[in-house]
Amino acid sequence: AQEKDGLKIVVVGHVDHGKSTVIGRLLYDTNSLPEGAVDKVKRIAKETGKPFEYAYLLDAFEEEQKQGITIDTTQIQFFTKQREYVIIDAPGHKEFLKNMISGAANAEAALLVIDAKQGVQEQSKRHGYMLSLLGIKKVYVVINKMDLVDYSESVFHSVVAEMKEFLSGLGVYPLKYIPVSGFFGENISQQSDKMPWFKGEPILAAIDLLEPAAGIGNKPLRFPIQDVYKFDDRRIIAGRIEAGTLTVGDEIIICPGGKKTTVQSIEHWSERDKKQTVSAGESTGITVKDEFFNKRGEIITRVGSEPIISNRFRASIFWMGKTDLVLHKKYKLKLATQEVECEAEQIVRVIDATQLHATEVVDKIVLNDVAEVIFKTKEPIAFDVFQQNHVTGRFVVVDGYDVAGGGIVIAGEKIAIAEK
Ligand code: GDP
Repeated sequence: AQEKDGLKIVVVGHVDHGKSTVIGRLLYDTNSLPEGAVDKVKRIAKETGKPFEYAYLLDAFEEEQKQGITIDTTQIQFFTKQREYVIIDAPGHKEFLKNMISGAANAEAALLVIDAKQGVQEQSKRHGYMLSLLGIKKVYVVINKMDLVDYSESVFHSVVAEMKEFLSGLGVYPLKYIPVSGFFGENISQQSDKMPWFKGEPILAAIDLLEPAAGIGNKPLRFPIQDVYKFDDRRIIAGRIEAGTLTVGDEIIICPGGKKTTVQSIEHWSERDKKQTVSAGESTGITVKDEFFNKRGEIITRVGSEPIISNRFRASIFWMGKTDLVLHKKYKLKLATQEVECEAEQIVRVIDATQLHATEVVDKIVLNDVAEVIFKTKEPIAFDVFQQNHVTGRFVVVDGYDVAGGGIVIAGEKIAIAEK
């Protein structure tokens, strides 16, 4: 599936707390619904004698997306005067994690919806936990169904206090807490006069305040080498620019080795496509001044904005292996074009379907588990934290011939672990 453009926001929360209603309202208020969607839902409501549900408006998008697409999240695009957004609606946290980690959906921000009357529930916590695993920092907590608690300021504050305490334990510090009624459209696109005590922005204005991540072209150069071709007496380094730009004459550093040289030429087939600069998204071939017998797997970057170079990193992984992931077993790790032997050194915590926290001692990860793991590679590799760069911050774990897990790097600093 083609990834849609726009700032990507995932909406999570306990079932029935009002995720779909809030999304439906946002779409309705920004005129982002497909033609006829509102009429259709109104008609069905009338025919069945049921109340009009904003949540049903989302069905129109699901229909649209059902055509042979493998991703199991729905992506809905909408616009404000400020910019473009993509709302990611996942049927459950497993699907969302799987899609996030595999790269099918890349949420940059999250709305965590909590029912004001029911307060913080198991899934509200689980979803908070999930955001921390993914390192999503731009989080707004939406306290919904404020109409059911008479728009009470004290109820709002007590739900906020409970959630804050839980999330801070995970290192998640939401940027805002917003009291709303998705059903009645309070504090969605308009400031609510039912809650004059609330001085913050309604959801729409609040998301417009989010700082979008730098576009991939403005990020530090990442040029993973795919192949090196010998051509006459020259060696052409080929690959795809994954971030930033590369210009003839640039001083570059080749990671993880750290040798420095200068870009001599950017190759071209004809005079017409001759260029001095190539940018993120382009496949290219270059030559460099000093020949270091470069090879596939190395990453070309610029001095001063190198990736992390280490043989150890902390990651969140989604396990889909036929057999369990076990500590110290040898696997193959593929990250960008690098391939290296690796092992799991420590399983820090696991989320499974039935419990929120990892059991005391965890020494394996089973099918469909999501876990935080410390990996050690045989040789140092070059990588980034996923939040900084999605291509050099994501990897797969291969067991024999099978892709058994997908992961994202959440920290790369050297992690102190007693050597065995
Ligand atoms: P989801 O499972 O989180 O997507 O929840 P839905 O959006 O489907 O909402 C679940 C139920 O709560 C539906 O019957 C909604 O009409 C109702 N609901 C959602 N938001 C509100 C609200 O702000 N006020 C009230 N009173 N009901 C709401």
